[in-house]
Amino acid sequence: MDDKDFVRLSGVAYESLVNGPGIRRVLFSQGCLHDCKSCFNINTHSFDGGKLENMDELIEDIRKNPMIKGVTFSGGDPLEQADKFAYIAEKIKAMGLNTWCYTGYTFEYVLKSKYERRGWEALLKYIDVMVDGKFDEDKKNERLKYRGSSNQRIIDVQESINTESVKILNYDE
Ligand code: SF4
Repeated sequence: MDDKDFVRLSGVAYESLVNGPGIRRVLFSQGCLHDCKSCFNINTHSFDGGKLENMDELIEDIRKNPMIKGVTFSGGDPLEQADKFAYIAEKIKAMGLNTWCYTGYTFEYVLKSKYERRGWEALLKYIDVMVDGKFDEDKKNERLKYRGSSNQRIIDVQESINTESVKILNYDE
């Protein structure tokens, strides 16, 4: 087994309606450093937990399901394995599907650090929407769509990079 072919996941949601618009495949990354208070899933924090999954098999399984309109990377924090998720996201974009990525880092931090952190620059090329920032229990609001707390933002990544100004999308009803 060659580690380069594998990504460490805590789980997969096969047809999710709650992690972005439309029916989506969700890959939950294993490993997170943010330690948000009242994290919804502390089992995703360890970098040794979860399971190694073959990336090409994950991609082929998405290709076989015509119901899927997009793919979401959630966590844990996918940015801790950004080189792996960049590989997957490039193939997903080539299929014509859209890509969302959750992270506990802020978008500004990701942009500022993209050359220093492995895979961040590559991942940014293939992500359509990033939901950024740590979960903040004091700003929790059940009515927010696709995010847990109001400090988190749903960001159009490519538009933000092209215009050099953060473009926030609003899905709240
Ligand atoms: S970023 Fe997500 S997985 Fe990580 S500690 Fe915060 S809520 Fe939990």
